[in-house]
Amino acid sequence: MGNQAYKNNHKKLGLCVECSNDALFNSIRCGKHVENHRKRTKRYVKKLIVQGRCSRCGILLDKDADCGYSTCINCREHLYLHKSIII
Ligand SMILES: [Zn+2]
Ligand SMILES: [Zn+2]
Repeated sequence: MGNQAYKNNHKKLGLCVECSNDALFNSIRCGKHVENHRKRTKRYVKKLIVQGRCSRCGILLDKDADCGYSTCINCREHLYLHKSIII
C-alpha cells in the first residue's frame, strides 16, 4: 500500500516515481528512468521467453498450442480484443 500511494502521489504531481525529477508527458518516469525501465523490461521478457513462458503474464507456454508465439493464448486473445476496440 505504501509504495503504491507514493507512486500515485508522484503521478499526480507529474514526477518520476524513481527519482522525483519531472516525469515525461504521459509517463510516471523521467527520460533517464523510462530508458532504464525499458532495458530492464526487455531483459525480463528475454528471460521469460528463454524459459518458455508468456512474455506478458509469465505462465508456462504450451509447446503445441503456443508454438511460435511468445505470449499465451489468453494474452493473445486479450491483445486481439484490445486492438479491435482501438481500431
Ligand atoms: Zn527518474
Ligand atoms: Zn500470457
